[in-house]
This record gives sequence, C-alpha cells and structure tokens, in this order.
Amino acid sequence: THSNKTILVTGGAGFIGSALIRLLINETSHTVINLDKLTYAGNLKSLTSISANRRYHFIHGDICNSELIQRLLSQYNPDIVMHLAAESHVDRSIDGSAEFIQTNIVGTYCLLEACRNYFARLDTEKQATFRFHHVSTDEVFGELGDTGLFTENSPYQPSSPYSASKAAADHLVRAWSRTYKLPVVLSNCSNNYGPYQYPEKLIPLVLHKALAGESLPIYGDGQQIRDWLHVEDHVRALYLVALRGKLGETYNIGGGNEKTNLAVVTEICERLNTCILDKPPGIDDFKQLITFVADRPGHDRRYAIDASKIEQELSWQPLQNFESGLASTLNWYINNPEWYQGLMSSAAKLDGQTR
Ligand code: NAD
Repeated sequence: THSNKTILVTGGAGFIGSALIRLLINETSHTVINLDKLTYAGNLKSLTSISANRRYHFIHGDICNSELIQRLLSQYNPDIVMHLAAESHVDRSIDGSAEFIQTNIVGTYCLLEACRNYFARLDTEKQATFRFHHVSTDEVFGELGDTGLFTENSPYQPSSPYSASKAAADHLVRAWSRTYKLPVVLSNCSNNYGPYQYPEKLIPLVLHKALAGESLPIYGDGQQIRDWLHVEDHVRALYLVALRGKLGETYNIGGGNEKTNLAVVTEICERLNTCILDKPPGIDDFKQLITFVADRPGHDRRYAIDASKIEQELSWQPLQNFESGLASTLNWYINNPEWYQGLMSSAAKLDGQTR
C-alpha cells in the first residue's frame, strides 16, 4: 500500500537502525518514531542528515521500560513496529552476558507484551494492517560445515550468548504470534557492512587499526567464513518484509558473498595500499600488520544464507557487489573521521574481530 504509515523503530540510532531510518525518511513518506537507549553503540550523529525532518521523532528510552512503550504506542498509534534494538557484539556477550539477556530477551518480551495490549485495543480496520517485525541474525542457526546454506527451516543451534539471546527473542516472537495472534514477521540476516558501523566490528576496526599502524588481530586461522551484505541492501529488504512479508513467516536475508575473515582483512589492506599514500612509519604494505591471535571461544566456522524465499516472494535482490561496496565503505570512513572520533578512544573492546 502507498498510504502513509507511522513506523516505530527500536534501536534506530544503531548501525542498521540508522540506515533504515535514513531510507524511510528519504525514500518514503512514512512517519518514523525512533526509540533508542543510546548505549555505547547508539549514535545520533548517524541521523543528522534527517533529524530535522518533521516526519522524524526521537525518543530516548529503554525497550525494557514497559510503561514508556505503552505510552508511546498510545500517543503515536504506529501501524508497524520494527524491532532492531539489541546488544549486538559477540565478544562483549562472551565477556559479560547480562545486558544481552536483559535487552535482547527481556526487552523483546516487554515490547511484545506492550504491542499485544496495544493491538487488542485497535479497531478491526487498524488491526488488519498492524505488524510487528522482529529483526534477527543468521547466527541463531549455529555453524555450517563446508557446504550447505541456512534456510528459514534450519534448526536453531546458537553458539554464543549473543546468538542464544537472539534465538530466545525469535522464539518469543513466534510464540506471541501463535498464542496471542499478534501479527508478526521475522527476518534473519547475515553479516552487514557499510558506513556508520561502530568500530568494534571487523571492517571499521581493521581500517582504523591499519591507519594507526597497529597490528590487525585475526582470530585463529582466519578461515572462518561469513556472508557479507551491504547495510543498504539489508534495510531495503527489511522494509519489504515489514510491509509485504507474509504474517507469521520468516525471511532469510543474505548477500551470497562468502568470504573468509582473512580474505576480508587482506582485501582491506590491499585497498589501503593503493589509496593511502601517507602510510604509517615503517609500513609499505598494510598486510605486514596482520597478526594471528587465539581463536574466540565457540567461534562458528561458517555462515551462509539461502535467500531464495525473499528473492522470489518479495522480489528483493542485493544491489551492491562486495568489492565496490567495500571500497565505498572504506572511502566513507576515511572521509568522515568526525563520525568515529571519540568512539575509538572510548570503546573498551576494540581488540576483537568478527561479530
Ligand atoms: P548496533 O549495536 O549498532 O545498534 C543497536 C542499537 O540498539 C543502538 O543504537 C543501541 O543504543 C540500541 N539499544 C540497545 N539496547 C537498547 C535498549 N535496551 N533499549 C533501546 N535501545 C537499545 O546493532 P546493529 O548492528 O545495528 O544491529 C541491529 C539489529 O540487527 C540487532 O537486533 C542485531 O541483532 C540485528 N542484526 C545485526 C547484524 C549485523 O551484521 N550488524 C546482522 C543481522 C542482524
């Protein structure tokens, strides 16, 4: 439908949430309510290009605050809730899982309960179009061997506190759909990359360390495989799932770009070799900085996505190819140091690798 909707986005100051809100404000006429706690990972600078728009509203708050959510739902009457707020970094979840349990599981529960109450009070016309979209990860499926792809029917086998907390949230969402008839859609996506990603994640981390002449830590043998998708391709998929996905169903989203971590880091180094003329002292090839470190405990070897369902049902296709997407992403970080300045020094956990 082309009608103007009101969309409540949780976690809209994060990496993917901010890309989603830029898309919704710039390319649709919907109204967006952004509910975000502004943890270390939330950054309103990612939204400066749209924050003055009259269709955009920011609410500083926690998804675990049931009263706040109920008030927001009554005040703004959203047609769609897109739930992205989460603790998202695997290494942090290994060091301390409490926030992951709280936000990812309890927070999702609070949001579901508030939406259930809100939904029950809607008139039938509005009930017919209301949707709760839960945004999740392919990591809930655990790891793959050398072959095979995750489908929407793959069994749940999460390995880390992060992926276990996301898996728990997925189960809650499905239960609220089955038991309470809350109209939900879900999506599970592979590794995202692109501008505005917090510099604890692989690509911005490696870039910043390389430019500083610091060693580039690679977990284990670096042969772990991830499927990479540009964040702008992901948020176009999210918008389609939220609007047109079949109720109660899940859509896998992936880029068909399987790369080992070592290949990604090598590719970044080679790009930097050609575009950074002013290299750190003693460095003539950034690959010199690559250093193998002890593997992450429970590290999954391979993730890969079968995205044929969303491709066929919703006519979605990734548009960005990894090589050019990576090049433009690196350029963006190099040209926008004011976005991440301060983050590099305040980030407690910058020695890790992939999420
Ligand atoms: P992010 O860490 O960059 O952003 C998370 C946002 O949520 C931040 O703005 C943070 O302030 C906010 N937040 C955290 N706890 C909150 C709370 N209790 N209440 C309100 N807001 C809170 O994460 P991201 O990479 O943008 O990921 C967004 C979603 O997509 C997550 O649910 C994640 O599991 C999922 N996902 C991410 C990837 C990826 O590659 N990054 C891939 C698949 C799925």
